[in-house]
Amino acid sequence: MPAKQELGRSAAEVAITYDFVKANEEYLNEGHKPEPSDLTRGPRSYTAVITCIDSRATPEHWYDLRPNEVWSLRNGGGRANDPGLLRSLMILQATSEVKEIRVLHHKNCGSLYYNNQWVHDLVQKNSPSRSGQYSPSAYPHCQSMGTLPFIRRGDKDEKEIIIDSIKQDVEFLRSHPLVKERVKVTGFYQDLSNGLISEVDVP
Ligand SMILES: [Zn+2]
Repeated sequence: MPAKQELGRSAAEVAITYDFVKANEEYLNEGHKPEPSDLTRGPRSYTAVITCIDSRATPEHWYDLRPNEVWSLRNGGGRANDPGLLRSLMILQATSEVKEIRVLHHKNCGSLYYNNQWVHDLVQKNSPSRSGQYSPSAYPHCQSMGTLPFIRRGDKDEKEIIIDSIKQDVEFLRSHPLVKERVKVTGFYQDLSNGLISEVDVP
């Protein structure tokens, strides 16, 4: 069997190309064997995890999950006060049995280092980056768009800020009219350095 493709970064920090089609072919060659319950709607855990888009923070990997075992809802920071995320939660609760919503924020989150103004200024300035440039008409589209940053306060350290954001989001969802009363909302802190996900007490 040929070796699996390796991903990495060169010394020049250029992303190495990954052949997704080939990877899928290799996956199929190894045998796609869904269980009957994998072909029905709704994961077997009845749990939604709200987490960051950070590619290091994949909840399926960290919780050792297979397909159809959790709903993953992701945005920058994994913040709950996001119209798109609330829309998804509304749909899930209307169409499926949701037993728990887990808010999972992680250590070393990039969202600690930006705010709305900073991101909007970058879009307006539109300097070329490694992703290229936006269309010249991009700026008006971001002006009404929040970036859901964490709020740095006083002399709190990074972990305290993240724990605060988890508590805020758990409380926000527990009191939100679009979250059904019987759905349990919990909060967790994900430590990228040691792999531990620990529960945050939100009375
Ligand atoms: Zn993050």
